[in-house]
Order: sequence, then structure tokens, then C-alpha cells
Amino acid sequence: MDPIRIAIIGIGKIARDQHVPAIRGNNAFSLAATVSPHDGGLTGVPHLASLDALLAEGPAVDAVALCTPPQVRYDLAAQALAKGIHVFLEKPPGATLAEVEALKAQADKVDATLFAAWHSRFAAGVAPARAWLSERRIEKVSIIWREDVRVWHPGQAWIWQPGGLGVFDPGINALSIVTHILPRPFFLKEATLVLPENRAAPIAADLHFRDTGGALIHMDLDWRQTGPQSWDIIIETDAGTLKLAHGGAVLTLPSGTEHGEDVEYPGFTAVSPH
Ligand code: NAP
Repeated sequence: MDPIRIAIIGIGKIARDQHVPAIRGNNAFSLAATVSPHDGGLTGVPHLASLDALLAEGPAVDAVALCTPPQVRYDLAAQALAKGIHVFLEKPPGATLAEVEALKAQADKVDATLFAAWHSRFAAGVAPARAWLSERRIEKVSIIWREDVRVWHPGQAWIWQPGGLGVFDPGINALSIVTHILPRPFFLKEATLVLPENRAAPIAADLHFRDTGGALIHMDLDWRQTGPQSWDIIIETDAGTLKLAHGGAVLTLPSGTEHGEDVEYPGFTAVSPH
């Protein structure tokens, strides 16, 4: 079978760190082009300044991986789907749920794949955590997601702008895991957001949720952490405590600890259009 020809739209940090090596590491895919308005692209790969230019004069592609900031994602996805091109959406899949619903309907109409990539769900400890929790009664959940924004998001102006999500940009990784592993749905009861005076998105958030069985879920999200960083989820159950650390990579159950490898982005390449 011919490889699926992918263009990466938005050749920034995540594209370079993860998408390029994951595509190059799997013969089922080929990197057909890159698109970015200011970046020069990669040596030996056709590069265009916009999706318009790619569609008008670039090499043919079967799929696009949208690795731009979320604010421009809907228009790019709609434009690609209108040409019948399969679409991979980096997280968050859109600025609002309604945008994503509209894209789903559009993709269905043209029989194209729309893949919302919650990369943290592919972390090594997530599937075993979900299996273990499916048979437990959840008593209490604590999510501690504290990182240093200066280390992880230097120079990313978009992340502080409306639609950039601020500290929820990493926080939705935690939520993508917790919504996947907890056996019951849960909903927000109370939220306190900390907004810097000169920014349009929060730098910290303290959130209280409750699941449909009454279990309390607390989320401590903070971008002002210096020193050791925390991407931890601790779940107390009737059979003891589960801890997912390092963003889902390291799972500790009452029986012991399992250290997983970095399988998040290579894991996506097992999910191909149709
Ligand atoms: P980034 O380093 O700022 O890169 C964003 C890229 O998008 C830049 O190359 C920019 O191009 C390009 N871009 C902006 N508008 C565009 C448009 N209209 N058409 C084509 N390209 C456009 O951001 P990032 O950290 O890679 O994050 C991108 C997305 O991936 C975010 O939604 C983020 O949540 C998600 N993500 C990031 C990480 C991470 O660790 N960084 C992890 C997982 C997911 P120019 O530079 O040429 O202007």
C-alpha cells in the first residue's frame, strides 16, 4: 500500500518535537509538505506559507496534521475537509465544542477522517489505569498539574490570547486522561481562575468537580511552578490508591509501579484514515 501523504500545518514546537519523528518512524506515512507563515520548514521537504498555497500549488496530500495554535484550527480543518482531505487535529480540537461538532458533520458528509488527538490518552499508564479503575468505587481524585510556563511555552504569544486557553493548554491533557479513566462522568462545581492583569488567559486555576456517584475531584493547575514539575493524578478507591505520574507515563497501583516508555505520538501512527 502507498504511504499516506501528510502535510504538517504549523511547523512549531510540537510538530518538530513529535510529529516529524513519528511520521518519519513509520513507513505507512510520508511527510509530503509543511506549512507555516514565517518558518522556513525542513530541509528536503516542500514548504508553503499557507494552506491556500498548499492546496493551489503544493504536492498532493491525503491528510493534514493541524499543529497550529487553536485559534485558527477550525478554518484550516474546514478548508481541508472541503477538499476531501483527512484531518488530524492537535489538542485542543477546537476553540469551542460547537466548532468541533460542525467539523464532525462536515467530515461525515465527505467520508473523511477527523481525528482529535488527545495525546496524553496514549501515555503508557493510561490504558492499564482505566482497566483497573473500571472495577473500583472511586472515593476521591486529586489532579496536580503544576509546571513552569517560562520553560514550556517561551515566546508563545497565542497561548495568552483569547482562545489560547492559558494554563488550560496543559490542563486539558490532565482532563483528557481523567475523562478517559474514571468510570463515571463528572462535572464542574466551582472554579477560581487567576488572570494576570496584562493577559487574556489564566495562569492558574483551582477547580472542583463531582462525579455522578458523588466522588469529589480537585484540580490544581498552575503555571508558576519552579523546580520539580508535577503532572500527577491520584485516585483513591475502595481497593487502595492509584497514582499516574509524569503525565500518565508512570502508573503506581497498590501492587507496585510500572514505568512506561514514551509512546504517545508513535501511538497515533497506529490510527490511520479508514
Ligand atoms: P508553536 O510552537 O507556537 O507553533 C505553532 C505553529 O503554528 C507555528 O509554526 C506557526 O507558524 C504556525 N501557524 C500559526 N498560524 C498558522 C496558520 N494560519 N497556518 C499555518 N501555520 C500557522 O506551538 P506548539 O507548542 O507547537 O503548539 C501548537 C498546538 O499543539 C497547540 O494547540 C498546543 O496545545 C498543541 N500541543 C503542543 C504541545 C507542546 O508540547 N508544545 C504538546 C501537545 C500539543 P509561524 O511560526 O511560521 O508563524
